[in-house]
Amino acid sequence: MSGALAVAGGQWAMPGAVEGPRWKQAEDIRDIYDFRDVLGTGAFSEVILAEDKRTQKLVAIKCIAKKALEGKEGSMENEIAVLHKIKHPNIVALDDIYESGGHLYLIMQLVSGGELFDRIVEKGFYTERDASRLIFQVLDAVKYLHDLGIVHRDLKPENLLYYSLDEDSKIMISDFGLSKMEDPGSVLSTACGTPGYVAPEVLAQKPYSKAVDCWSIGVIAYIL
Ligand code: ADP
Ligand code: MG
Repeated sequence: MSGALAVAGGQWAMPGAVEGPRWKQAEDIRDIYDFRDVLGTGAFSEVILAEDKRTQKLVAIKCIAKKALEGKEGSMENEIAVLHKIKHPNIVALDDIYESGGHLYLIMQLVSGGELFDRIVEKGFYTERDASRLIFQVLDAVKYLHDLGIVHRDLKPENLLYYSLDEDSKIMISDFGLSKMEDPGSVLSTACGTPGYVAPEVLAQKPYSKAVDCWSIGVIAYIL
C-alpha cells in the first residue's frame, strides 16, 4: 500500500450535518504533510510543526491517539462541527481534520510567539497596563467561545500562545474544545504539579459551566 489518500466524509460525519470541511481519511498523514519538528507533547497527543506538501504552508498538527477518546468519537462530531465555526483574531484557527485508523489530526494555524508561560518566566511580571491588554484579549475570545456554547475548561499560560515573537504580539487561545471530550482524569493529572488554574468544580469532577473559564482567567490575571 502506498498510503493512498482517500478523501471523503469521515465515518462519523452524518451526510449534510456538518458545514465546511469534513473529516478526511488519511491512511498516512505524512503523504500530505512533511513533519518537521515537535512543538509539544502530551499524554495522548503530540503537536507537530509540519509543511503542507501541496502549498508549502507551515501548520501545527495536533495528533491525538483515538484510544484517548475512549469510544467517545461519536459524540465528538457535533463538537468538531462547532470548532470549525470558530473564527476569532485571538483564537488559533482549526483549518482541517484528518483521521486514520489510530489517530485524529487537527490541522491548526501555526503561531510562532511561544507560550505565555515562557514569557511570564522571562519577564518575571507584567505591568498592570500589559496585563490588562492581555486579559482584555483573552476575555474577548472567551466571551466569543461562550456565546457559541463552548467552555474551554483548561485556560492556563501554557495554552495561551503569542502570535509572534514581537513584544506587543497579540495572544491566541489554543487547546480548547476537545478538552471536554477527554477523560476528566487528564485534567486532574495535568493539574498536578502545576499552579492550579482549574476551578474547584472541575477538580471535584462536578458539573461545570462557563464560570470555570472565568475562574482560570482570574488566576492568570493574578499571576501576571
Ligand atoms: P496538550 O493537550 O498536550 O496540552 P496543546 O494543544 O496545548 O496540547 O499543545 C501543546 C503545546 O504545543 C503548546 O503548549 C504549544 O507550545 C504547542 N502548540 C500547540 N498549538 C500550537 C500552534 N497552533 N502553533 C504553535 N505551537 C503550538
Ligand atoms: Mg495544552
